Amino acid sequence: MENTMRAARFYKAGQPLIIEELPIPKIGVGEVLIKVKACGICGTDVHIARDGTIPTAKTPITLGHEIAGIISEVGTGVEGWKVWDKVIVISSITCGTCYACRSGHEGLCVNARILGLHIDGGLAEYLKIPASCLTKIPDEVPLEQAAIIGDAVATPYHAIITRGNLRPGETVAIFGCGGLGSHGIQIARLTGAAKIIAIDVSDEILERSKKLGADFTINSTKEKTGKRISEITDGKGVDLALEFVGTSVTIDRAVKSIRKGGRAVIVGIGPEKIELVSPYIFVYCEDQVIGSFGSSKEEIDRILELLKMRKLNLSHSISQVLKLEQINEGLEKLEKKVDNPIRIVIQI
Ligand SMILES: [Zn+2]
Ligand SMILES: [Zn+2]
Repeated sequence: MENTMRAARFYKAGQPLIIEELPIPKIGVGEVLIKVKACGICGTDVHIARDGTIPTAKTPITLGHEIAGIISEVGTGVEGWKVWDKVIVISSITCGTCYACRSGHEGLCVNARILGLHIDGGLAEYLKIPASCLTKIPDEVPLEQAAIIGDAVATPYHAIITRGNLRPGETVAIFGCGGLGSHGIQIARLTGAAKIIAIDVSDEILERSKKLGADFTINSTKEKTGKRISEITDGKGVDLALEFVGTSVTIDRAVKSIRKGGRAVIVGIGPEKIELVSPYIFVYCEDQVIGSFGSSKEEIDRILELLKMRKLNLSHSISQVLKLEQINEGLEKLEKKVDNPIRIVIQI
């Protein structure tokens, strides 16, 4: 094997990533070396590399946290994995000893190190990772689709099912129907939501949302969102609202769209403060406003089962596949929302 690899390195927000030749990482006890095959890019990468609203723990750093690949080397002490296994890399390395880890909530680990944010990520030919961060990809699932599951599909799954506790027959409003929201619509439909309302600012995205399973669409630049949701729900409001945008306006609309005793799950991240309704309404209506971050390995495995059984279809989720050398073109397309991408995947 050659000794060096190509990697997309981030130095400073607003500057292009640089493709560099780096030594292939040496694995230690309990680690494996992954030959990266596909790495999705998303809004997080745009916030790091373009507008700088998400700072990395170090620079330079290799970005990339939506990773699928093939095991090329297995370290000592690793059991259950072998060379050539196809794997998804869980992007958060947890400590296994803090209170959150010990109580089964690894996603809240206080010592978590995230790939492409704290340590070198997967926009590189090779990646070393603890074997505990792997999940096996069934033969039926293409590597490009596998790469995006951990973030674009598992994040809305966690928000809708685990945090939002969606039940069959309930009514759901989804604010923001891009990468996360479009999969949120599919998960809500699979779960048996009675009415799925998609809210976005783009007619094109809303048209796509209908094809994915939305029963009603609202273009919030043309219609009064609250009034339309009230009409659709006979004045009650929705059982569950999902917010995937992260602005104070959309969070406010999501919270106000829920029925008495309803749930609003906030996934979108932004710099603005969350302003709630008055305590009179909040208390009287028993509103539940819930934060939701990331996903778990168990949730990713459930999504893989759905894909294996062809109950979930991700064939339209990858808007474009680019080469590592085209990483800056990919980030620009995501930032400017050229052709409303769901996910762009870098093939390595
Ligand atoms: Zn992502
Ligand atoms: Zn921990």
